[in-house]
Amino acid sequence: MLLFTPGPTPIPESIRQAMAIPTLHHRTKEFEGYFEFCRIKLIELIKMQDVLMLASSGSGAMEASIRTFCKKPLCINSGKFGERFVKIARAYDMPYVEIVNDWDTPPSSDEICDILNKNSDVDSICIQVCESSGGLRHNVEEIAKAVKEINKNIVVIVDAITALGVEEIDTSNIDVLIGGSQKAFMLPPGMSIIGLSHLALDLIDRNDIGFYFNLKTELKNQRKNTTAWTSPTTIIIGLAKYFEIANIEQIYEETRIRSIATQESLKSLNLKIYPKRPALAMTTIYSEDSVNIRKVLKDKFSVNVAGGQDKLKDSIFRINHMGIIAVNEALWVVNAVELALDMLGIRKFDGIANKVFLENYYKQG
Ligand SMILES: *Cc1c(COP(=O)(O)O)cnc(C)c1O
Repeated sequence: MLLFTPGPTPIPESIRQAMAIPTLHHRTKEFEGYFEFCRIKLIELIKMQDVLMLASSGSGAMEASIRTFCKKPLCINSGKFGERFVKIARAYDMPYVEIVNDWDTPPSSDEICDILNKNSDVDSICIQVCESSGGLRHNVEEIAKAVKEINKNIVVIVDAITALGVEEIDTSNIDVLIGGSQKAFMLPPGMSIIGLSHLALDLIDRNDIGFYFNLKTELKNQRKNTTAWTSPTTIIIGLAKYFEIANIEQIYEETRIRSIATQESLKSLNLKIYPKRPALAMTTIYSEDSVNIRKVLKDKFSVNVAGGQDKLKDSIFRINHMGIIAVNEALWVVNAVELALDMLGIRKFDGIANKVFLENYYKQG
């Protein structure tokens, strides 16, 4: 079965082998070596002041960030993950302002600035780079810049779980950048990442909040290449291997052309790309036949793609582009979609998906 869901992603053989070493104790020089290497590489990748690695899935880092950095956040809700920030704020009885969008439509930076100007007590903004529930790419860089022009002390919290390791993110106006192990890093689920700016570091120092997710305690430990609690050792050893095998610039470029080739290929089958501003991390197709297409893909062609969530559960399907993916596998997916459409009597097979994918992939490469 080919796993083509936008998280979790398949783990490469070399990373699985690296993680297969006998258990390392986390309070050892040997493990600290892995930890330090990952810290250095992560800071290099995100181009921020500092970084934390937490033993939790991405949502843990979202919760820790809301608690540490927000008194009244503006939450951009363009889907399930944006809504999650709202739910966390509510769980802590924290006041918030929310912008609710259709899942295919990004808010403009003007709209966001307007709300900030009207709500001067808002001290932070929470937004996804890629809102994975509809495959939408927010223009986070432009929004962050506009927010900082209004007030440089507004904390810009960015969930980049499906963007880190996919594409270059300009973090110059971002204070908190959240990542997760199970998406583009091709690791098992269970570790989250938080990139930090000067402003974020200053707030951590002043806000000694929480216990398990006390970022002040974590930062103090992690600067000494250890963790406050038991580290997710196996995942960190896997991450060190990722940095060993990954040529980041090459991954960015390859992901971009593979993602665009897939989009163009599926459009040639008269399939509709769902978001108005698609992210590179996944191709999201809107189709009333999604359930049947996914079933045929899985049963007949051994391709596992994701459906939707909530209101889009049965009307979209999502194809992953995160991680290092062999071109022949990506090509098989679009061919399988075309074959599935033929089997379902939706569109007669003529090989166009394959042709358009290859033309785009090699034209751009
Ligand atoms: C996967 C994902 C998360 C993390 O969810 P967890 O299940 O807690 O790892 C958060 N935000 C986005 C945009 C995601 O795609």
